[in-house]
Amino acid sequence: MTATYQQPDAQGYYGSFGGAYIPEMLHRNVEELRSRYLEIMEEASFQKEFQQLLRDYVGRPTPLFLAERLSKAYNTNIYLKREDLNHTGAHKINNAIGQVLLAQRLGKKRIIAETGAGQHGVATATVCALKGIECIVYMGVKDIERQAPNVARMKMLGASVRPANSGSQTLKDATNEAIRDWINNPSDTHYVIGSVVGPHPYPDMVARFQSVISAETRSQLKAATGSELPGYMIACVGGGSNAAGAFYHFLDEPKVKLVAVEAAGLGVSSGMSAATTQLGTPGVLHGSKSLVMQTADGQVVEPHSISAGLDYPGIGPLHAHLFKSGRGIFLSATDQQALDAAFNLCKLEGIIPALESSHALAALNELKLKADDVAVICLSGRGDKDLATYMKAMEQKG
Ligand SMILES: *Cc1c(COP(=O)(O)O)cnc(C)c1O
Repeated sequence: MTATYQQPDAQGYYGSFGGAYIPEMLHRNVEELRSRYLEIMEEASFQKEFQQLLRDYVGRPTPLFLAERLSKAYNTNIYLKREDLNHTGAHKINNAIGQVLLAQRLGKKRIIAETGAGQHGVATATVCALKGIECIVYMGVKDIERQAPNVARMKMLGASVRPANSGSQTLKDATNEAIRDWINNPSDTHYVIGSVVGPHPYPDMVARFQSVISAETRSQLKAATGSELPGYMIACVGGGSNAAGAFYHFLDEPKVKLVAVEAAGLGVSSGMSAATTQLGTPGVLHGSKSLVMQTADGQVVEPHSISAGLDYPGIGPLHAHLFKSGRGIFLSATDQQALDAAFNLCKLEGIIPALESSHALAALNELKLKADDVAVICLSGRGDKDLATYMKAMEQKG
């Protein structure tokens, strides 16, 4: 097989990153998933149901929108891939649908998930309601307090939200609780992970479910410009699922520059950042080997970002490999740069972006695009959920 960035090797490695570092008690569950996921995803009946739900329930294909006033401001050609127009307001639903359909075919009766800000929990609860499946979402106590609207959404959708009391009472602790649940309920439960992280096969499986983003982009760009290939594909990276989906069908097209934008928080060197490729070292986090923000003795460092979805101390193994190999261009945007980019998009295009997506928009200031360049930005989500933060920023500006 020729070298490809799309596919990990049989053990789930992208270069030196990936694999499955899991407790013995999880081997059976992860092995069941690993041995079945490709076969199930390739079944005609699976594809039919998945594609139908993406179309009729999520609202796909999402538009590829030529942002004319934004393009003019940067003297180049900028298209927005409108994942913000998906049902539930972001790309996460693509993966949640894929995994729940897969879980049903594995005979699972119970879905568990972990969530930090609540976006992945809401997407998972949504699909479980649609399918009439029991849904349990683990969430840190602190996050339950901070993210009340998403907790209410999950409850309305019929999910039970279980508080994680240990440690820092945030995402990491919710993940531990979800893993404990899975160990205790190995035969009837599927664990829906929300990004291209976790043990093999999760990163590859999630990337495949999200790859609809770049598949659509290719044909839409061809119709709009005559070429399937943009000069730049730009996306923000928390764990990396919207970026993996936006890059997927361009990974092995060397002419397309892949730009990943991490959250610099208050600044990469401020001690309050989530720019994993800039600050991280190789280590194991949540079941795979990747780059991790950690101390010299391997304690995970608490990350910071104004956007909850990017506030993660790791990065998926595919992205660690894109960084290490030089295939990806890794930039970062500070909290303030993301806010500025959000207000700029509102003013120029009438679109209120999610704070996460605003990090990708902020990269336009660094990229020095030329008049004949074509750039696609993955607008991963809408900004409704971030209104409280935007209101505070407006108050401060006066
Ligand atoms: C969760 C989220 C992200 C970050 O997750 P990735 O897995 O890196 O895509 C980005 N944008 C939005 C809108 C999100 O909700």
